[in-house]
Amino acid sequence: MDLDSLRADLENLRRGALERIAAASEPAQIDQLSVDLLGKKGELTLVLRGIGGLPAEQRPKVGAIANEVRQAIEGALAERGGELRTGALGRRLQAESVDVTTPGRPIPRGSRHPIIETMAEIAEVFGQFGFVVYESPEVEDDLTNFQMLNIPPDHPARDLWDTMYVDIPEHLLRTHTSPGQIRVMHAERPPIRALLPGRCFRYEATDASHASEFFQVEGLMVDEGTSLADLRGLLDQFAHAMFGADKRTRFRPGYYPFTEPSVAFDVECLICGGRRCPACSHTGWMTILGAGMVHPVVLQYGGIDPERYQGFAFGMGAERIANLRHGVGDLRLYLENDLRFLEQFP
Ligand SMILES: [Zn+2]
Repeated sequence: MDLDSLRADLENLRRGALERIAAASEPAQIDQLSVDLLGKKGELTLVLRGIGGLPAEQRPKVGAIANEVRQAIEGALAERGGELRTGALGRRLQAESVDVTTPGRPIPRGSRHPIIETMAEIAEVFGQFGFVVYESPEVEDDLTNFQMLNIPPDHPARDLWDTMYVDIPEHLLRTHTSPGQIRVMHAERPPIRALLPGRCFRYEATDASHASEFFQVEGLMVDEGTSLADLRGLLDQFAHAMFGADKRTRFRPGYYPFTEPSVAFDVECLICGGRRCPACSHTGWMTILGAGMVHPVVLQYGGIDPERYQGFAFGMGAERIANLRHGVGDLRLYLENDLRFLEQFP
């Protein structure tokens, strides 16, 4: 090894190193180059091993050149490293920047289903008269759904309800919320003011006005001296709260096995105001619920003495009330859960 070839090696190292540093595109590459070029086992150290073979008077010269090369490489590393780090930071800042002037995206708001909403409103109106909401099972036994409501097994009125039975003997999906009356009477002592909203089931072909699954709201009041006039007064308050204080109402005879007498409760047609139109089948009236005085047999099944107490009960279809309030004409809309429909009830 002589001085000239060592000097040439150092020059080559410097040139090659500066090219590689200039070509680096990431800060991590600069760190790696620093190790490869200047590290303990780096390329400069490797070249300087030859220094031991030189005559002593030549060694300082090579040492000086080697220092110069080292400084050149260190300077280039620092400069290019600085450039790359600044660029990388700039790109990161750009990529991760938040434009605080951008308008926010609206968060989609859900709303209550119109049937749930309607039942809540019904409960609120009757709540003002002291009625408390009770729950009652959807899978009911035949005894409670029918027999204790004065509908024995061979009773022709059973044809009014096309029943869906379940795999448990003598059990069924409740066909109405009325069995809840029996359950409340078994659980409470008079005075009773109970409201029983809930899902009911019937074996029906589905169309615009029939559904196999629907909601009813049942009401029951039992006390001493309860009369049909009390029922009428309460239902008038309800109709006025739901449909307008100026609406006329009427009772007309109805039939239910569990009430005697039974009535249908009508409100004047919400479309024509009583002048008769297709919506009210040209009667001027719309039926909103069925009601009546609780049959003494039903009170007895409920464990209540019919000699001392009287009761009235009423039951309405939640879909019917929602239809009248919102002008919906097809029951199927309530069960399809199509957002285009539901979003109209904010
Ligand atoms: Zn009408």
